[in-house]
Amino acid sequence: MGASSRRGRGTGPFDPYTGADLGEGEWIAYSPAQEAGLDAPRYCPVCGRRRVVQVTPHGWTAVCPRHGETDSAMLERR
Ligand SMILES: [Zn+2]
Repeated sequence: MGASSRRGRGTGPFDPYTGADLGEGEWIAYSPAQEAGLDAPRYCPVCGRRRVVQVTPHGWTAVCPRHGETDSAMLERR
């Protein structure tokens, strides 16, 4: 087995703000807006694809071409 570094799309999960592949050990630093949850997560955490983001009066919605729509209300409901 070679120790070649595997870049590119692994199995995830992916960081929804930056698209970094957390499953591959990538790490990221959020901007202050992202830490505060003010920025919409533009990447699908499941597949890492870029989502179509729409800002709404209540937050945002993000649509993955494969996994469908997520909106901010879903994440805030804890
Ligand atoms: Zn997806």
